[in-house]
Amino acid sequence: MSDIDTDVYFSYNVNIINKNIGGNKKYFSEGWENVCVPLSALITLISNGVAYCAVTNNETRNKNNFAGTNIVSIDIDAENTISAVLDHEFAQKHLSELYTTVNHTAQFHRFRILFRLERIIEDADEYEILMRTLRLMFKGDRSAIDAARMFFGNNQSTPQEWDRFIPNDVIDRLLLLNPEPKSDKNSDYQSLASSRSKVCIPLDQLITTADNQQIKFKNINPRTSIYCPYHLDENPSAFVGINERLSKFIHCTSCKRSWWQEGFQIKCRFNKRRHSHCDPTRPAYKTVKWCEPA
Ligand SMILES: [Zn+2]
Repeated sequence: MSDIDTDVYFSYNVNIINKNIGGNKKYFSEGWENVCVPLSALITLISNGVAYCAVTNNETRNKNNFAGTNIVSIDIDAENTISAVLDHEFAQKHLSELYTTVNHTAQFHRFRILFRLERIIEDADEYEILMRTLRLMFKGDRSAIDAARMFFGNNQSTPQEWDRFIPNDVIDRLLLLNPEPKSDKNSDYQSLASSRSKVCIPLDQLITTADNQQIKFKNINPRTSIYCPYHLDENPSAFVGINERLSKFIHCTSCKRSWWQEGFQIKCRFNKRRHSHCDPTRPAYKTVKWCEPA
């Protein structure tokens, strides 16, 4: 069976065509219909201009009614180009669909990318984490974080589709990569909360340095400026650091996040409270006191 025949779970609303040319805003919450149909049927709806969102309880759209879905859509609002997205390694492995949105122009690319997930996500917070990580990866629109967000179709678009999806192990990794979406502010890239990711960096992972060399993480000197491996980084916005126990980490000033080398969590038994020695962005203490779990 081709991937395009795999069922996806979503809700659609035939009362909303393109950017709601009918103009009746009551349909933003009402008139939704939950379905489980092949991905090809969703693509047909989109190319007829029909709006869609996650499956909702009572077929009324708001975050509290989020019931789940196995698709994730990311809006790209002129911050990235279609060719850059299609060249991205993650997209080449996992992207299911791409279509241009109503305000797309040759100069300002406005489009939507859609990933099918191997499993259904039923938890709204978990779903928002997934959206956030994919949005950071592709420089997507930061306001598109609500789990119950609706996505407009476009009857002028010609969607492109691929036999791909995000498998469960990759979903698990994405969920750990960039948690805490609640601390973001839509309007402000600087307002991301800084924290330590639960994902560790393999020592053999290739990292691109600011002068465009590819070096294994274990061989990079501390204080080297690098391109962040975890978001679409056009300026080198990350650096490599090291702590007193010679554990290396990467900190990205755009993601506001630190990733430690693999094995680090086994050595450091910190609890969930914040401690300055756990946070590489704070001044290092000479003597490290290990915290016992509370
Ligand atoms: Zn980053």
